Amino acid sequence: MATATAMATATFRFYGELNDFLVPRRRGVAFERRFDDRPAVKDVIEALGVPHSEVDLVVVNGRPVPLAHRIADGDRVSVYPAFRSIELDPADRVGRPIPPGERPRFVLDGHLGRLAAYLRMLGFDTWYRNDAGDDELAAVARAEGRILLTRDRALLRRGTVDRGRFVRSDQPREQLREIVERFELGPLAAPFTRCLRCNGRLVPVSREEVLDRLEPLTRRYYDLFARCPDCEAIYWHGSHRTRMERLVAAVIGPPTPGPRPR
Ligand SMILES: [Zn+2]
Repeated sequence: MATATAMATATFRFYGELNDFLVPRRRGVAFERRFDDRPAVKDVIEALGVPHSEVDLVVVNGRPVPLAHRIADGDRVSVYPAFRSIELDPADRVGRPIPPGERPRFVLDGHLGRLAAYLRMLGFDTWYRNDAGDDELAAVARAEGRILLTRDRALLRRGTVDRGRFVRSDQPREQLREIVERFELGPLAAPFTRCLRCNGRLVPVSREEVLDRLEPLTRRYYDLFARCPDCEAIYWHGSHRTRMERLVAAVIGPPTPGPRPR
C-alpha cells in the first residue's frame, strides 16, 4: 500500500577525521541523503555512522545549527570535527570543548586498560574499571565532565555523552599517540605523578619509609621512591620506569625540549 509521505533530499559533506566513520564512497565528498518527515540533524549524522560526540559544528545552508535542528528538503549540511586552528563563536559549537588551560580528564571503557595505564603514566586523571557497564561510563562522563574514550560507537551515540572520542586504533601505544595528539596533551603532561593501578596521586617518599616493603635488590639499587596514598603501591626509579620514560619521550617528546629544527 502506498503512503502519502513526501520523500525529501539533503546534501551532506563531512570534514576532517569525521570521514573515518563513513563508508568509503562518502568520504571527502558531498552526497545526497533521502529521508521522510524532518529528522533532527543529529539522527541523520548518527545514521550515517558518526557519533554526535565527535562533532563540533554543524552548518546548514551556511548557518551554524544545534544538533536538534530539523532538516528540510534541499538543505546543504556541512559537519565538522573539533577545530584546532579556526576561530569559532563558542555559541555555534555543538561540542562541549575543554576550556583553555584546563587539563582534560578521562573515563575509559573496559577494553582500554592499557591506554588507561598510559594516560595515568602521563599524569592525567583517568577513571577506569574493567567491569564498568555502559550506563556507569556514561554517567561518570556526564557527572564529572570527563571525556569518554571507547571503541564502542553505540556508547558515544548516547544523548547524555557530550564529551567523547572514538578511539581509532586497537594498539595501546598508537591509541596513546592518537589521544595525546587529538587533545594536545603534550604540554599538559606530568609524567610519573599518578598511580597506574588506581589513579591516585603519588607522593615522594624516602627509602627508609618504605624499606620494609622492598625486595633486597630494590633496596640496594634504587633510591627514588613514590607511594600511592590510596592503594599503598610503591614506585621506584628503576629499569621499568626507564622503559616507560622511553615511551613518554616517544609520545610527548623529551623531558626538556630544545629548539625545534626548522
Ligand atoms: Zn594506587
